Amino acid sequence: MDYQQLLHQAMATALSAPGRGRPADYIPALAAVDPTAFGMAIATVDGEVFGAGDWETPFSVQSVSKLFTLALALAEGGEDADALWRRVGREPSGNPFNSLVQLETEQGIPRNPFINAGALVVTDRLLELTGDAVGAVRDFLRAESGNDAIEVDDAVAASEARHGHRNAALAHFIASYGNLRNPVESVLAHYYAHCAMTASCRDLALVGRFLARHGVRADGSRLLSRSEAKRVNAVLLTCGTYDAAGEFAFRVGLPGKSGVGGGILAVLPGRGAVCVWSPGLDQAGNSVLGVAALDALTTATGWSVF
Ligand code: GLU
Repeated sequence: MDYQQLLHQAMATALSAPGRGRPADYIPALAAVDPTAFGMAIATVDGEVFGAGDWETPFSVQSVSKLFTLALALAEGGEDADALWRRVGREPSGNPFNSLVQLETEQGIPRNPFINAGALVVTDRLLELTGDAVGAVRDFLRAESGNDAIEVDDAVAASEARHGHRNAALAHFIASYGNLRNPVESVLAHYYAHCAMTASCRDLALVGRFLARHGVRADGSRLLSRSEAKRVNAVLLTCGTYDAAGEFAFRVGLPGKSGVGGGILAVLPGRGAVCVWSPGLDQAGNSVLGVAALDALTTATGWSVF
């Protein structure tokens, strides 16, 4: 399999279609990104990594981090995984990622771990279990990618905190139902900081391999049981790409998590992980070129969980 060639072809196919979307600007610091950036990387389960375009340029991982907080909260919770699943559901929400409406009818139990409300509960759980949710995510990303330079971009975190009225509202609303264990301010600070982590396609593809290896980390130790890894992949497939997870499954056919920084990390079970980044987003918040490149890649190779 010529991975390098496949990446170049997938990116060229994506670029041949019209439409680039627009970078997110509701977090002002994100709007400063180069809108033409485009990179893609594959990391295989046996340790090879291939990349094309801007695959080594760090970008703001944003909601891709929600995949890592979920995996770490489940791992740290040990046998008591249900303690998390009693506090957050696993159904697609059918609503935008930052919606407030569902929370009231569902009594402060967010629909799934990947909408902002659910991610705040997961961050709270990870904070409860480790005392340092951001540190846990950073250490995990560094260890799996081998890149010790992975860090929080404080300017992005501060920018989000300044404009984070909706996330603050969500966190307070959840707290009003008794579904946060830590002070709202701490949960928000850890949430903004793990979203503001910067990493490249190379880094994230290397990190994503733990799901391709059914829960096994780069050093051979087990983070998640095979069953838990399957569950995380299932929630990624059904809820990982905002309110367009059906369209993503239809076009790409793989579990994946997107972020408003323009990154998407997708899992090729048993084979590896692929990360693509381009800041222009569609209406749902997914990278336009990113989805198109993954569509082209999986169409050319037949890679899918189906
Ligand atoms: N930190 C962003 C927010 O809470 C994450 C959004 C995203 O990437 O979906 O709005």
